[in-house]
Amino acid sequence: MKIKILTLFPEMFESVLSASILGRAVKAGLIQIELVNIRDYARNRHRNTDDYPFGGGAGMVMLPQPVVDAIEANQEAGMRRIYLSPRGRTLNQRIVEEYARCDSLLFLCGHYEGVDQRALDLCIDEELSIGDYVLTGGELGALVAVDAVARLIPGVLGSGESSEDESFTTGLLEYPQYTRPAEFRGLKAPEVLLNGVHADIAAWRRRQSLEITRARRPELLESAPLDEGDRETLHRIELAESMLTELAASGVRAARMEMFRERGYARAWIERFVPAESRRTARKRCVSGRGHVGYLYQAFEAGMAPCLRGEAAKAALAEVRGAAELYLDREGVGFDVENCEALSGLHRGAVLSAADGRWTAAMGKGEMYFLDVDATAF
Ligand code: SAM
Repeated sequence: MKIKILTLFPEMFESVLSASILGRAVKAGLIQIELVNIRDYARNRHRNTDDYPFGGGAGMVMLPQPVVDAIEANQEAGMRRIYLSPRGRTLNQRIVEEYARCDSLLFLCGHYEGVDQRALDLCIDEELSIGDYVLTGGELGALVAVDAVARLIPGVLGSGESSEDESFTTGLLEYPQYTRPAEFRGLKAPEVLLNGVHADIAAWRRRQSLEITRARRPELLESAPLDEGDRETLHRIELAESMLTELAASGVRAARMEMFRERGYARAWIERFVPAESRRTARKRCVSGRGHVGYLYQAFEAGMAPCLRGEAAKAALAEVRGAAELYLDREGVGFDVENCEALSGLHRGAVLSAADGRWTAAMGKGEMYFLDVDATAF
């Protein structure tokens, strides 16, 4: 792949293009990147490349002549000529894939207030933005695009690196990653990743991807390739959500909920319901709690999940008409289903069993929904 970058500041590229994976790819000749200094094409006496805008206004505009001459001297047959600009289509993985299929690309980096429109009309095929914000110049945008495209060129990523299983390539956001040590500052890496059962690991990752995508970028699910299992998982998550909504409508303010055995899920809920300033402590307390059950328990202890206790909790939950069967467990409300022993230490807070028929469908074997109830809601 051949890439030409036209800029007034070629020195901005040197360190990025010579380091790490990009540097290796350039050295190995997998991509040829040529930096073209637009100033070299300025024909006026002072080699100016910009002037005041016609019609007035702040800043300077890049002159059409050096830009057009630079492009004409460097373009090649079939080369896609791209101007970095906040007005362009916003870069995403689909566009990156499209560029990676080209034999050659030319990036024009604007500076100051941009480039005289006539130069763009004459020589540019498309405008590309790297996001809805304004940079001082197109150089960082060009580097972002080149970096993303380079990773897709065969041979650029080493054998241990892959571009196939990543955010956007799969149509979903990526699952969380963990490495050694298995426990860091009291936070454990998910057990499933350590047990070496590939099918379990793949299932866990897929589920995490679905949950994270649904929580953060739900619109991606509309075009992501999903199979029956994925749809079932999403359906369960939706049921869980509707449970919360239903409870909220009944006057219970549900602060957070967790799916048993799924710490990642609990984390997502913490992100959603715990105020930003308390999240770190919530995560730490919760994940370092006694297994997964400890998660919620510790959150109560940390005072982050105000809860009703004893009779008050029972009375409050009883208000959720027909919502669930409640079981008293020492001081609080617990439940009496398969994993009851795991909960024997849980003596505070309100834990709601999804024993009601409508919700059992949302629970796989051994999965339960926990719910704590905000006392102020009553
Ligand atoms: N006056 C322009 C406007 O309001 O759209 C902004 C010019 S900006 C200060 C200077 C140069 O930075 C642009 O010509 C463009 O090449 C580059 N640039 C700024 N924001 C960008 C973005 N979001 N994506 C790609 N390039 C950008």
